[in-house]
Amino acid sequence: MGKNGGTKIYCPSCEEIQICEAIPVPHITYDSSDYSQRMYLTNHPDLNFFQRGRRCKACGEEFITAEIEYEFLMELSNLRIALKDIKENAEIYNKQTVDAQKTLQKLQKSLSLLQALK
Ligand SMILES: [Zn+2]
Repeated sequence: MGKNGGTKIYCPSCEEIQICEAIPVPHITYDSSDYSQRMYLTNHPDLNFFQRGRRCKACGEEFITAEIEYEFLMELSNLRIALKDIKENAEIYNKQTVDAQKTLQKLQKSLSLLQALK
């Protein structure tokens, strides 16, 4: 903790640790309902978090941080890994499908040649 409520945290604009001061979230969102710091996502009511507005003292970037239960962070990390795997497998499947189609076309051509020999 520094003077004027500044806290050393990661600034997404500077991409490094900077001193950031706390500011009211509505100053960023212009939504007066954001004055409550205890929030949840309406589509995921179990995702409760505590939000704070931040202003980087180095670059002036304003952003919102959310304090969440650690398990939710791990769930997000696992979901990212799973999505990456799904994407990679889908790309492999797509390529193999194209290759299989080409093979099938060649096979059909060969078959029609054989049928013509009858
Ligand atoms: Zn910054």
